[in-house]
Amino acid sequence: MTAQINHYIGGKIEEGKSGRHSDVFNPATGEVAAHVALASTSEVDAAVRAAAEALPSWAGMTPLNRARVMFKFRELVEANRSKLAEAISREHGKVLSDAAGEVTRGLEVVEFACGIPQLLKGEFTENVGTNVDSYSVRQPLGVVAGITPFNFPAMVPMWMFPVALACGNTFVLKPSERDPTTPMLLAELLTEAGLPAGAFNVINGDKEAVDAILDHPEIQAVSFVGSTPIAEYVYHRGTSANKRVQALGGAKNHMIVMPDADMDQATDALMGAGYGSAGERCMAVSVAVAVGAAGDALIERLVPRVRSLKIGPYSDSEAEMGPLVTKQHYDKVKGYIDLGIEEGAKLLVDGRGFTMQGYENGYFMGGTLFDEVKPSMRIYKEEIFGPVLSVVRAKDYDEAVALVDSHEYGNGTAIFTRDGDAARTFASRVNVGMVGVNVPIPVPMAFHSFGGWKRSLFGDHHMHGPEGVRFYTRMKTVTSRWPTGIRSGAEFVMPTMK
Ligand code: NAD
Repeated sequence: MTAQINHYIGGKIEEGKSGRHSDVFNPATGEVAAHVALASTSEVDAAVRAAAEALPSWAGMTPLNRARVMFKFRELVEANRSKLAEAISREHGKVLSDAAGEVTRGLEVVEFACGIPQLLKGEFTENVGTNVDSYSVRQPLGVVAGITPFNFPAMVPMWMFPVALACGNTFVLKPSERDPTTPMLLAELLTEAGLPAGAFNVINGDKEAVDAILDHPEIQAVSFVGSTPIAEYVYHRGTSANKRVQALGGAKNHMIVMPDADMDQATDALMGAGYGSAGERCMAVSVAVAVGAAGDALIERLVPRVRSLKIGPYSDSEAEMGPLVTKQHYDKVKGYIDLGIEEGAKLLVDGRGFTMQGYENGYFMGGTLFDEVKPSMRIYKEEIFGPVLSVVRAKDYDEAVALVDSHEYGNGTAIFTRDGDAARTFASRVNVGMVGVNVPIPVPMAFHSFGGWKRSLFGDHHMHGPEGVRFYTRMKTVTSRWPTGIRSGAEFVMPTMK
């Protein structure tokens, strides 16, 4: 019988009651691995009510005690790392070592959240006026929600809920319906760590659940990560319901390779950042901008490497990348390769014909490499989200930077060069949120914050780190005076401090 994935509400698994479900596939075999329940508006409401009931006691707990729950959760995630990685790989398709790395990046946010007593420390001024003191504190918002994509079913939810919970909020997570098992496991571990029932809920679903979250009057803030059209929609619908919203969208990350770069190092960087996780990363490098003589030097090195990529199911410890997530996504990526040929780009390595022996029904695609891609082409402008790297030739540094600056996405970018001056100018001036210098995927650590610019982020706050604490709290400033025996009577003019 096909396994059924339900919801997690009020500290326990709740069976889906909407009568709707979606198939969850094993991308390596193409088989339906499970059915996931798709929540109705009233099921979302039940999760929000559970979160609202848990709020007073959780928010009322001392930050130190909330941190202790996070410490325990950290231990449990560590102890269950292999189980979590396996759950990710089974439904997403990424290789196990990559899935374990994803768990580690999530764990780092939990470690950051363990420092919440320090992070929530406010500001105090003695004597803002004579015998008058002022202090500012950050308080939780209330019930908050997260809506997450398929490509990091552990890490992206963990960018959000550890910080939100540590700040004293309660949480409703709507994960991707394509790989929902991992978030359910995380919910169980939170309960085991001592989180009160209802403080963290998982509601599985599709657009109906998302809309119910965006419209729910009890939800104060929404964190979203996914594609740009949905991010923009979530931002507008959520903010028009007066919620605080941070909505991270898609990407088309460029890596500039200057002629003075170490070409072997740049090639290694492009291989990992372009094809790791089959290119299904928001920080994947999908465009290599080769400046001058770097073009031929790179192509010469890349072609044999792309041809010999090791592709396999997650259980193959030698594999460097796995299949794409669904047949629908496979068809979309293949469609872009067809389009690139029509548009006149030079296809140097074609991944379309690749089949994996013993896994003929899986969604495996070989590494694909285009040269002479032009900025007017759709394969340059749009996010493909597959193992497809485009090389664009630029005559000099200025032309290369202009490409990065004028692209509609601004998530991440990198420059490979030995010229410190060029690197420093690039980092300082480029119109992108996360910048790498000889680092291809500049994903900020948990104690910094993650977020792009332009159409890669809607809203004001980046995720986790100090920005996460700001997003999930609001400031209150208290000004106080204790009776001193001096009575000045009612004051009708604008008060000023003496
Ligand atoms: P997606 O936009 O299809 O889905 C994201 C979430 O939105 C899911 O929970 C999904 O159920 C929901 N959703 C989908 N369609 C909807 C609709 N019409 N109305 C309301 N909700 C809807 O994204 P995906 O395919 O799961 O993930 C890949 C995308 O996410 C890529 O574009 C990638 O760049 C982006 N991403 C961005 C970041 C970042 O930090 N900027 C990180 C990871 C992924």
